[in-house]
Amino acid sequence: ERAARVRTFDGAGRTADGHRVALLANVGDQAGAAAAAAAGAEGVGLFRTEFCFLDHTQEPSVEEQVAAYRPVLAAFPGRKVVVRTLDAGADKPLPFVTATEEANPALGVRGLRTARRAPEVLDHQLEAIAQAAGAEDAEVWVMAPMVATVAETEEFVAACSRRGLGMAGVMVEVPSAALLAGPILARAQFASIGTNDLTQYAMAADRLLGSLADLSDSWQPAVLRLIEATCRGGAQQARPVGVCGEAAADPALAVVLVGLGVSSLSMTPRALADVAAVLAATDLERCRELARVAVDAESAQDARDAVRAGLPVLA
Ligand code: PEP
Ligand code: MG
Repeated sequence: ERAARVRTFDGAGRTADGHRVALLANVGDQAGAAAAAAAGAEGVGLFRTEFCFLDHTQEPSVEEQVAAYRPVLAAFPGRKVVVRTLDAGADKPLPFVTATEEANPALGVRGLRTARRAPEVLDHQLEAIAQAAGAEDAEVWVMAPMVATVAETEEFVAACSRRGLGMAGVMVEVPSAALLAGPILARAQFASIGTNDLTQYAMAADRLLGSLADLSDSWQPAVLRLIEATCRGGAQQARPVGVCGEAAADPALAVVLVGLGVSSLSMTPRALADVAAVLAATDLERCRELARVAVDAESAQDARDAVRAGLPVLA
């Protein structure tokens, strides 16, 4: 019965007037990749590799990593799979990279920052990703979580290049990266906006705290303005900008993201059919108009209400 509720969509995401928007899936392991393929995902926009090793106290060997990555790539032959390097820290501690005590883990040595302390862990992972990519047919892109500066981007792109990984990108989930998207995307091949953390850091509201849910809302106009700034940087450098946070799974917000210039949306496989249906009923110019309305709103509630009212398909 549960399987029956997971509707699929066929083929390729597009707006009513045919503008392509790749609809991708967020996965954490082989089972997730199989579910994503079954739901019709065009590829993987976020492979959360840390999910493969949450119970590990020691760094997994390169061989162990290759064995974890290959089945995910194998589920999408000829398709794009965006592999995120370990996003350890805060809500996802990995003892082999984040063992130290910190007063503010969400603001601490997490994500790409762990490579300051243990650069070899990143290099081993890139080696494993390169080996897995060499053994499977998927089109492998690699991205780093929690990038905040141009220098971090340069270092990550160089580390990928040393392992022969040419499609190296960054996640935009720290407001500084959104504001510097132009120079960052002069170095990186692509950006993927992590709206969960971007919202947490823009609003200074812990994403796990239910009592602050009104602040932890990606409809907050301040968050939308950071997304707009990221897309502007992407357009300046002619680099693709995707979204892989929960925002991509909200059909009305997906319309706004497309209107802001996002070219791919990556989400839980369950959400693909609903997002595809709303985009298919809305043309690009309408997406742009509704994006303007949302960005110009003065509250998350106003933005959400105005956009939903402008989308009869959701009624
Ligand atoms: C995000 O922050 O939006 C994101 C996609 O990454 P994660 O949820 O894994 O932190
Ligand atoms: Mg994140």
